[in-house]
Amino acid sequence: MSRTALVTGGTRGIGAAISIGLKNAGYKVAANYAGNDEAAQKFKAETGIPVYKWSVADYDACAEGIKKVEADLGPVDILVNNAGITRDGMFHKMTREQWNEVIGTNLNGVFNMTHPVWSGMRERKFGRVITISSINGQKGQMGQANYSAAKAGDIGFSKALAQEGARAGITVNVICPGYIATDMVMAVPEKVRESIIAQIPVGRLGEADEIARCVAFLASDDAGFITGSTISANGGQYLA
Ligand code: NDP
Repeated sequence: MSRTALVTGGTRGIGAAISIGLKNAGYKVAANYAGNDEAAQKFKAETGIPVYKWSVADYDACAEGIKKVEADLGPVDILVNNAGITRDGMFHKMTREQWNEVIGTNLNGVFNMTHPVWSGMRERKFGRVITISSINGQKGQMGQANYSAAKAGDIGFSKALAQEGARAGITVNVICPGYIATDMVMAVPEKVRESIIAQIPVGRLGEADEIARCVAFLASDDAGFITGSTISANGGQYLA
C-alpha cells in the first residue's frame, strides 16, 4: 500500500510543487493551507489532491487536522514542513507581533506538526520528516532577524530529532532553498530581481520543481541513510 504524505502550505508555491511531485511519485498526498480558500480549491480541482485548512501555528488545530487526514488517507508516513511566512523589517523597527508571527509559524509550526505524528512513526518504525528552511536561516539576512532565527531553529531542531529517530527508521532532514521563482519573488520589481540573480552563480532563480525533486528523493527508500542533513539548493549563492 502506498505511503501517506502531508505537506503543510501544500497548495501554493513551493509546497504545491512538492504535493504534486509526491503524488506523481505514487504517494497518497494531503495538502494543508492556512486561509487562501480560492487558491486551495483551484489547486484541488487541478490536481485531485485533497486540501485541509488549519494554521500550523495552532498546536490543537494541528492535532485535530492530522487526525482528519489520517482518518481519510491513513497514518502520516511523510511530513513535509513547508508552510512559512515573512514579516520583514529592520530590527529596530520590528514589532513583537512580527517576531511572534514568524516564530509561531516557521518554528513553532514545525514542532506543532511533527509532535503529533512522531509517536506513530516510532511505532511503525518508518518516517520521513522534511522541513523547508531557507538560505537565510544559514547565512542570516538583514531585515529578517525573525525569519532567520526561525529558519536556523528548524535546522537545529532537525539535527537533534534525527538522532532520536535514527533507531526507529525515521529520517529527519532539511532543505534550504535559495531564491525560487514563486509568486513572492516574481512580484518584486524586475530591477530588484535582476540584482538578486546577479548574486546567484548559476545565473538564474531556482524552480519550485527543483525543491520538490529534493523532497521526493529524501522521502524515498533510497535516502534511508541520509538523516540530520541540510541540503542547500541555492544555485551556489551560499556555500554552507
Ligand atoms: P508561499 O507564500 O507561496 O506559500 C505559502 C504556503 O504556506 C501557502 O499554502 C500558505 O497557505 C501556507 N501557510 C502560510 N502560513 C501558514 C500557516 N500558519 N498554516 C498553514 N499554512 C500556512 O510560500 P513559498 O512557496 O514561497 O515558500 C514555501 C516555503 O519555502 C516557506 O517555508 C518559505 O519560507 C521557504 N522558502 C521560500 C523561498 C522562496 O524563494 N520562495 C526561499 C527559501 C525558503 P495560504 O495559501 O492559505 O496562505
